[in-house]
Amino acid sequence: MKLQIPGDGELELKTLILDLNGTITVRGKLIEGVQERLGLIKDKGLEIFLFSGDTRGTAANIAQQLGIEIKIALNGEDKQKIAEGLEPATCVAIGNGLIDVPLFQKVGLAIAVLQAEGLHRECLEAADIIVPSILDALDLLIDEPSLIATLRP
Ligand SMILES: [Mg+2]
Repeated sequence: MKLQIPGDGELELKTLILDLNGTITVRGKLIEGVQERLGLIKDKGLEIFLFSGDTRGTAANIAQQLGIEIKIALNGEDKQKIAEGLEPATCVAIGNGLIDVPLFQKVGLAIAVLQAEGLHRECLEAADIIVPSILDALDLLIDEPSLIATLRP
């Protein structure tokens, strides 16, 4: 997907990188509404990955349920290294924790979510956009004009 941002040029997004705990799940439960939105985002041509430290041991099941690929990342440096192989300037990442900070610093667009498991202060500072929920984050990717409106200078 290619966004024309007035006054700031083009932003091409090819890959969506999701964090697991506190981002697409809260207390281990997949947030309702994520699955259908990921379907819409896939239809726009984005490839979707789950990058997770898998704190709860549930990552593989959730990735399978969502039909997305999982990459196990044990720390923030792992997340950053994996993203480096995915044209990071064309990646959008969504996360909430300290582990997401090195990834947020590499990708073309970083979106932080503030949900029940919290948003780490350093993650907030590394983000381009902060939204109240994963559903809002995914809706920004689905409704491109709202994303452009937030990003334009
Ligand atoms: Mg997290």
